[in-house]
Amino acid sequence: MNCYDHGTQGEVVAAVATCANCGAAICAVHSRVEEKRLDQNGVGNPVHASTRNLLCVSCDRVLAPQGLEDLGDQRPAFAG
Ligand SMILES: [Zn+2]
Ligand SMILES: [Zn+2]
Repeated sequence: MNCYDHGTQGEVVAAVATCANCGAAICAVHSRVEEKRLDQNGVGNPVHASTRNLLCVSCDRVLAPQGLEDLGDQRPAFAG
């Protein structure tokens, strides 16, 4: 399978992963790795671990948490 994002640019690059959200095949350049928390409250055996979540650049842009600098603009509007 070849990289979807490279394919849109007319290039053929072997894919190394698939996006966890949209399923597009992605190469190393177009993959974004996010930490994914795994918390399971098993009886007597809780699991707190982290693994990875591979996303394409398109999904990463949409799904990534908003930067803290963006929160400063979201001030409540006071009427009157
Ligand atoms: Zn690519
Ligand atoms: Zn994607």
